[in-house]
Amino acid sequence: MPTPGRPWTDAEVERLRQMALDGKSYSHMAVALSRSETAVKDRIRSERLMNPELWPERERNVSICWDCVHAVPDPSKGTGCSWSVRFKPVEGWIAKHKPQVLYSGPVPRMVSSWLVLKCPKFKEG
Ligand code: SF4
Repeated sequence: MPTPGRPWTDAEVERLRQMALDGKSYSHMAVALSRSETAVKDRIRSERLMNPELWPERERNVSICWDCVHAVPDPSKGTGCSWSVRFKPVEGWIAKHKPQVLYSGPVPRMVSSWLVLKCPKFKEG
């Protein structure tokens, strides 16, 4: 029986992390932890527990770069990466090619881009 609002223990988060890495379904994890699927999804997102290689397609629409300090190059702070500075892929990243529409300029145009799912240089900030 799901118990909404119950605080998560470290042991539960670790168990959730392992199941997420194993690619278990949300419903499986919800039953195993006596939580609602919504609670499981929210916790996975907030803890960034999901293995991006196993993430369902619908979940993979936001690049992790939005949450990374290196997305904004600043030599005085030591931030920046080959992607944010030169639009060159970071070695070892897992990314999906995702063309995007650019609206800067008189006419919208398609540009080549990447949806970054996992990156060895990622640093939250
Ligand atoms: S996640 Fe990787 S590619 Fe994206 S901004 Fe951070 S270091 Fe650069």
